Amino acid sequence: MPKPVVIASANGHRFRNGGDATCVERAWQMLASGADPLEAVIAGVNIVELDPGDSSVGYGGLPNADGVVQLDACCMHGPRKRAAGVAALEGVRRPSLVARALLEETNHRLLAGAGAQAFARAAGFAIEPDLNSDRSRALWQEWTRRLDALGVSDPIARTHAGYRIGQQMLAEGLIDINHYYGTINCNAVNARGEVCGVTTTSGLSWKLPGRVGDSPILGAGLYVDGDIGAAGSTGHGESNLYNLSAFLIVEEMRRGAHPKDAGLTALARIRANTVDPALLDARGLPAFNVNFYIVNTRGELAGVSLYRGSNVNYAVCTEHGGEIRPCESLLDDPAPLA
Ligand code: ASP
Repeated sequence: MPKPVVIASANGHRFRNGGDATCVERAWQMLASGADPLEAVIAGVNIVELDPGDSSVGYGGLPNADGVVQLDACCMHGPRKRAAGVAALEGVRRPSLVARALLEETNHRLLAGAGAQAFARAAGFAIEPDLNSDRSRALWQEWTRRLDALGVSDPIARTHAGYRIGQQMLAEGLIDINHYYGTINCNAVNARGEVCGVTTTSGLSWKLPGRVGDSPILGAGLYVDGDIGAAGSTGHGESNLYNLSAFLIVEEMRRGAHPKDAGLTALARIRANTVDPALLDARGLPAFNVNFYIVNTRGELAGVSLYRGSNVNYAVCTEHGGEIRPCESLLDDPAPLA
């Protein structure tokens, strides 16, 4: 039988929200004391959703182009074969809990926008008028100031100009790359080989209002099969939407691949399918990074990424405690800025 293990994106072993445990530590402690793996991973990511220090997830996440924090999340329960997601949800600090409520209380698999918020309200969640922290609001105001200074009024042209300004703010160090893109995915296997996962995010910074990334989409930002394992993602969500990467990884594991090889197969697929010049760098390689966090029901795991880098890591917790490990990369090149 496997030993309990938790895998997450690197922010899963960084933020504590003033408490004494990180996401992976909290989830592992709960697994070790017999909690359901879905309860464990959701309690773990709740720490990061609530910590305004992580401006890529939940409360204090970087907002959309209108300055509104819109959140995406989904969760999957392997043994119970249940799953649900919420997209473009406003006003609830921990969208993972709304996804879990949808999973428990309905047969729906995905709710979006005002409907997701109405469900959350009916399920007893507090709806707040604004989930910006002072920092996320100030960064959005700076982005807006630079965009307005260009005098571009056409909405499509503003989108492209806004993207370039985001790149500038990254290059100037005003935004941490891990927060411009940024999400938390956390997956766990308990000693009975039961596997569950959750992904939650504020999505791409300054996104078009209503843009939904991969994080709430079953098969894209997360997929769990109780007989096989789990895979979740952070990074360029549009690639995962196109390639349904998390589903592909779990299917590769079903065919016998180790988590690492399954992840590298998905990354190779993304590389091969990225042909739009707008998404390529001067070398003709993808101009973005994308990462996967993978575990099978035997507890074998891998963190993989398209590019390597000192900040391209993943988090693990075992009986030896929480740790950060470098991702294995498909390409031996440094990660681009975005
Ligand atoms: N994958 C997320 C999205 O596209 C963002 C991220 O993880 O960077 O919304």
